[in-house]
Amino acid sequence: MYVVATPLGNLADLSPRARDTLAAAAVIAAEDTRHSKPLLTHYGVRTPLVALHEHNEAAQSARLIERLHQGDDVALISDAGTPAISDPGQRLVAAAHAAGIPVVPLPGPCAAVAALSASGLSSARFAFEGFLPAKPSARRTALTALLDEPRTLILYEAPHRLTALLEDVAQLFGDREAALAKELTKLHEAVIRGHAEALLAWLRAEPGRERGEFVLLIEGAPPRPAAEDDLDVLLTRLLAVLPLKQAVTAAVAVSQAPRNRVYRRALALQQAAGSPTLDDAGSRTGNRARQGEESPGSTGRGAR
Ligand code: SAM
Repeated sequence: MYVVATPLGNLADLSPRARDTLAAAAVIAAEDTRHSKPLLTHYGVRTPLVALHEHNEAAQSARLIERLHQGDDVALISDAGTPAISDPGQRLVAAAHAAGIPVVPLPGPCAAVAALSASGLSSARFAFEGFLPAKPSARRTALTALLDEPRTLILYEAPHRLTALLEDVAQLFGDREAALAKELTKLHEAVIRGHAEALLAWLRAEPGRERGEFVLLIEGAPPRPAAEDDLDVLLTRLLAVLPLKQAVTAAVAVSQAPRNRVYRRALALQQAAGSPTLDDAGSRTGNRARQGEESPGSTGRGAR
């Protein structure tokens, strides 16, 4: 079974291999057969089509698995982009695996990846959230749950809900950097950067700008500096088993707090505890001696 990505808008984005695979298949399972006809006609593909959409995916998958068992090649496409990505197809693919049928992806257009690649936001780690719930309260709950997500967020949204989504993002994420990718590969393509309020202003600057297809991307949450209490708990545990320098290094790595601050807290905690702790050689020593050793500029008694 072949999972074939098709253009998001620009017909020239169908790969030659995708065209050949569609032409050679016994049947093409398409989300909407009428929608896919112009693309297939454009490329001279005459393979018969059957519909596979969210309302018939279970029954149609069973019929297609039957055909695959008989030796027919099946190609799966959706209206645009990559099948099974916020589109039908995942159930058929899972059924094929369950039936021991090899599944071959033919990679190509995908709005999420195209938008991310052109956004300039970090792509080292990203979280594809697809469509958030349509109801405003459920959408806000979903967005709130994503506030601390450190990966770049990728959202799909229908054009008539885009403004409401951006208003919620502006309210909840404030001036967090974001990007809007509009009508990718089409005539009115645009990729805009700015926080949600700026993206709203861009949308409203010209009538009709909110029409079309959009991907919204939001920069991941910045690392949260550890609160003083969290840092103290962390340092107390580390100081119980590590020499001061190593405890500070470990606490900086975990908390991402500035080294100076961590060092000051570590010293304060040692002083407050007033009990012998491990020095850098791993033996028990008093606090004064340890302070002297650890503080490069110290002229305290312990340093002498
Ligand atoms: N399977 C598709 C893919 O691979 O990207 C996604 C299909 S999903 C039903 C449709 C959503 O994808 C749209 O509401 C929009 O958020 C996004 N999308 C699809 N085509 C797009 C385009 N040309 N430009 C921007 N976003 C697009």
